[in-house]
Amino acid sequence: MIFVVGHKNPDTDSICSAIAYAELKKSLGTDAKAVRQGEINPETAFVLEKFGIDVPELVTEWEGKKVILVDHSDVSQSIDDIEKAEIVEIIDHHKIGDITTPNPIFFLAMPVGCTATVVKILYDYHGVEIPKQIAGILLSAILSDTVIFKSPTTTEKDIRAAEDLARIAGIADLNTFGIQVKSKLSDIEKMSADEIIKRDFKDFNMSGKKVGIGQVELVDLSVIEPRIDDILGRMKEMKEKEGYDGVYMMLTDIIKEGTLLLAVTGDDSVVEKAFGARLENSRVWLDKVMSRKKEIVPPLENAYSS
Ligand code: MG
Ligand code: MG
Ligand code: MG
Repeated sequence: MIFVVGHKNPDTDSICSAIAYAELKKSLGTDAKAVRQGEINPETAFVLEKFGIDVPELVTEWEGKKVILVDHSDVSQSIDDIEKAEIVEIIDHHKIGDITTPNPIFFLAMPVGCTATVVKILYDYHGVEIPKQIAGILLSAILSDTVIFKSPTTTEKDIRAAEDLARIAGIADLNTFGIQVKSKLSDIEKMSADEIIKRDFKDFNMSGKKVGIGQVELVDLSVIEPRIDDILGRMKEMKEKEGYDGVYMMLTDIIKEGTLLLAVTGDDSVVEKAFGARLENSRVWLDKVMSRKKEIVPPLENAYSS
């Protein structure tokens, strides 16, 4: 049995790509099962329910298991006892991370907006028909990761894949469906500051420094404004107690197309170096910035290394 799993703090892509890729492996005669390594978010819950697919089982012990990683290749985002598992494949759309393997493996990373696009391409490559429900969840993942094609990570391949998948899934209006999917993450009223931060939070190693970057994508930032002081307080606590050199939160407005970046750093000049803009009250508006991996991580890595 091979387990297919996405990154920590799973997003819709990590869950849906794992499910769809496990289905593809099964169609090709491999015993595979999608699992998760954390709670699913309300957006993913909506998507799975809409297309009638069960939430994958939670797995936290990996000793001796064969694993396919999707949507990441960074040790810090992966399963905890990764060194005890056997990684047999990686399917991703991020920069190549720091996971290594003792044996040659199938490793496919494409510079596209979503792992689900890569999975769709693999279905086509193998000539396997995509079931309707699977098309629905893959489509949802693409709309989610590309922020309905507004993120600069979006490529022609994502758009073409989404159009094919929409036809199979019977979704007529991608924009309306995309907003429906994305708005599920907006119900943050009942969440604690910690939950808001951790829902989509990733650790990075930047020139030996531990840097954490979270993101919330909202249809309207006004719902989160009253919570910002709370969130900053919790970020400061994380910096002090959890060994972070910097803790960042992207509050991304998907309609205005920009990000209010909250930053708690050891030295605020890193933000100025990275983004050419100064923090005021630990926050700065970055117009047009929507993508963590393309517009936040690379300039921050540069700033930390200089
Ligand atoms: Mg992801
Ligand atoms: Mg992804
Ligand atoms: Mg994401």
